[in-house]
Amino acid sequence: MKTTYAQKVYADAEARAPWEKEFLQAVREVLTSIEPALPDNPQYEANAILERLVEPDRQIKFRVAWVDDAGRTQVNRGYRFEFNNAIGPYKGGLRFHSSVTASILKFLGFEQVFKNSLTGLWMGGGKGGSDFDTHGKSDGEVMRFCQAFMTELYRHIGPDTDVPAGDIGVGGREVGYMYGQYKRIRNEFTGVLTGKGLAFGGSLARTEATGYGLLYYTDEVLKTMMNDSFDGKTVSISGSGNVSIFAAEKTMELGGRVHVLSDSSGYVYDPEGIDLDLIKEIKLVRRGRISDYAKERKGAEYVEGKKVWERPCDIALPCATQNEIEEADAKELIKNGVKLVTEGANMPSTPEAIEAFRSSGVVFGPGKASNAGGVAVSGLEMSQDSQRLAWTFEEVDTRLQGIMKKIVADSLAASNRYGMGNDLLNGANIAGFERVANAMIDQGVY
Ligand code: NDP
Repeated sequence: MKTTYAQKVYADAEARAPWEKEFLQAVREVLTSIEPALPDNPQYEANAILERLVEPDRQIKFRVAWVDDAGRTQVNRGYRFEFNNAIGPYKGGLRFHSSVTASILKFLGFEQVFKNSLTGLWMGGGKGGSDFDTHGKSDGEVMRFCQAFMTELYRHIGPDTDVPAGDIGVGGREVGYMYGQYKRIRNEFTGVLTGKGLAFGGSLARTEATGYGLLYYTDEVLKTMMNDSFDGKTVSISGSGNVSIFAAEKTMELGGRVHVLSDSSGYVYDPEGIDLDLIKEIKLVRRGRISDYAKERKGAEYVEGKKVWERPCDIALPCATQNEIEEADAKELIKNGVKLVTEGANMPSTPEAIEAFRSSGVVFGPGKASNAGGVAVSGLEMSQDSQRLAWTFEEVDTRLQGIMKKIVADSLAASNRYGMGNDLLNGANIAGFERVANAMIDQGVY
């Protein structure tokens, strides 16, 4: 059988860096999805669009030396992958976690290109971070690390060049410290980071945006594709960080029941439904562990070392990290009657898990579409910073709802255009790809 253009590009990427497993996983998913759109559009191959998309514009790696509370110098690695700026400044979060590698940040940066395109806003794609772990560090240590990180990163970014934000391990505290350092070095007050505090250029609803956006997307899928709603549904959510907490909050507002949440040590099950005020107190105020919830809440149970996917649910929202739903987890969910899976995290389902869902008729919404609400509101934060204005919560939230509904509509339109019916995965990849690819062609070879 003749090798297709997409297969050739994938094989070349794999030959170049076979050890970049997560990156290759993301590339394979996108290239497989967009393959049906390629024969009718020979201009993409003629302009080597796929070859250029799988190679970041720029890869920056640097040493981050900082001093801990004991006076010892510590060394971490910092990265920024500037992937593609065909439709706007590079945009994407910074992840601080001990598991961070170049491959993980490359997969996230690659995905970000298509996700940002789907929002309809003017944002290119990038991602960065460090193998620094904030767990167990004092505020002073986190501040000194963030300052050291920005002391190198500042020369590569700017409000019209590259605008980082948060991700795992990077919340309001870390963004604030990095913003302060950028401002000191550059002596300018500009919207160079998003997810900032409300007192210095942040946007209302940014904290809630990824979780809320995931629920707006999921609600729209339920209504338009399944003639259903959240009312009375049991919902499993993994993680207990920024995305999970606000996904849980909106689930409850829409009438669903959240019975589990987790962290990397285990999960809690609450037959009465999760008490979100207690979770917020433990995770956001005390920076505690999910196991604390079971100690403080009557009737709740903590299960060490297991995943939430072993509990029966109607809807699953993976909101922790990549590859957290493996094939066996997917099969367990299917056996227990799950009807819909939409991803809050980036690439939380392995290819085998996605295949299991799709072949069993479980509706599947891919992260690059369903979790795009976070970066969408980051885009709105950039607009407010440029205008030197602050919009109301309602204004931002209304725009977010509109963007998430349009992502569902655009994904379905793209998949139907290429004869694939209502396929949210292939549709999202094609819709995200086309806008970037066409902009690249219009701008000439670079
Ligand atoms: P947080 O750091 O706030 O929370 C991450 C949560 O996931 C924590 O509960 C953490 O537990 C858990 N977790 C992390 N690593 C693992 C692991 N290896 N196994 C099991 N659980 C794990 O991050 P966010 O909520 O911001 O991000 C969560 C996901 O959403 C990520 O995939 C991120 O890329 C994605 N995302 C985030 C956006 C945002 O706006 N923040 C936007 C779009 C996507 P523990 O504390 O034990 O590590």
